[in-house]
Amino acid sequence: MTPNAGCCRSQSRGYNPAMVTRRAFLAGSCAMALTPRPRVAAARYDLVIQGGRVLDPSRRVDRVADVAIEGGRIRSIEPAIASAEAADVLDARGRIVAPGLIDLHVHVGAPDLTPAALLRDGVTSMVDGGSAGADNIDALVGVAQAAPNRVRIFLNVARTGVASPGELIDIEAADVDAARRALARHREWIVGVKVRLSENVAGDHDLEAVRRARQVAGPLPVMLHVGQTYSPLPKILELLNPGDIVTHIYSPPPHSAIDAAGHVLPEVRAARKRGIRFDVGNGRNGHITWPVVDAATRDGFWPDTISSDITGPGRTFRVFDLPTIMSKFLMLGMPLDQAIACVTNHAAANVSAFRELGTLRPGAPADVAVLELREGDFELVDNADAKRTGHRKLVTAAVVMNGKRIASPRS
Ligand SMILES: [Zn+2]
Repeated sequence: MTPNAGCCRSQSRGYNPAMVTRRAFLAGSCAMALTPRPRVAAARYDLVIQGGRVLDPSRRVDRVADVAIEGGRIRSIEPAIASAEAADVLDARGRIVAPGLIDLHVHVGAPDLTPAALLRDGVTSMVDGGSAGADNIDALVGVAQAAPNRVRIFLNVARTGVASPGELIDIEAADVDAARRALARHREWIVGVKVRLSENVAGDHDLEAVRRARQVAGPLPVMLHVGQTYSPLPKILELLNPGDIVTHIYSPPPHSAIDAAGHVLPEVRAARKRGIRFDVGNGRNGHITWPVVDAATRDGFWPDTISSDITGPGRTFRVFDLPTIMSKFLMLGMPLDQAIACVTNHAAANVSAFRELGTLRPGAPADVAVLELREGDFELVDNADAKRTGHRKLVTAAVVMNGKRIASPRS
């Protein structure tokens, strides 16, 4: 039984006395006062998130508690904090209070999907996975700079970024010098290098593309988009360093992470052992099918991180939002705390700029996702449009970024 199981059912969406803030209370009482107003000390906290199930895998916390925020940072987590201690109170009873979500693979280079839209889903930090390369990186850096949440970038090794038909069909698009110059110009924003390897993107140059991406990245991680590659996955994995990230790990054949008998390739397990990370990258096409996930997870191969690979069109087709992708993994049997770890502390560990994120540790930036775990029947689809029914669905109820409440989450 979960700590909030009883709470969920009694949750009221209407007026709630716990939401009366100290400020409102004082305003009311002062209006009635006939004698001089007593001196009242200022509230100790800017915001207290009250009564939620605090679920922070980074510290193995899973209990009903209050979270106090001050100066944009987490101040403390305590069994109960009086409303009078807070300038503002967020009622989270019956909900999950998790660190702000981190999506390691999004595409916010086009105007049809903004970082602000993802913030309303609870995504307080994200990495754009290769939308732009050396030729068009400045515009994407501009998007990151203007965003209300934290946006960092994996620079596409190809000068054009994601392109149609495929940005690496001509391998000379992977211009190491141009990419290095872009990286040097935007060190604060570019946190790794992306390389897309499917045969329709990179032709038969996949191995050379990885070598060039690694040359550009140096100590930074390379994120590899795999699935339907010209070369077998083990050949690609040989070229990677610890800390590199393989995305689309549940891609269907050719050259998936499982063999014909449905077992995870030994080279994939060996790569994980030496520090290669494995990421979901749901996306819309060719990246995840239930039979591949079933085989891989039956063999114990779960993701290190859950990312959406969301684009503008993905908003209404097969992807929707990060909590929906997390819900797919709940349906597949992943425990809730693991699904949250995959978008918080596990994700933060991939990006040096995110090292103090993905946690509710006192002192950390106060990025918080308040999530509702709905029960019912929910249709979830893979990239082949195969439908499955999940019985729990995560929906974002409230978001706090740097200690400030974000207006109107999508739910
Ligand atoms: Zn992508």
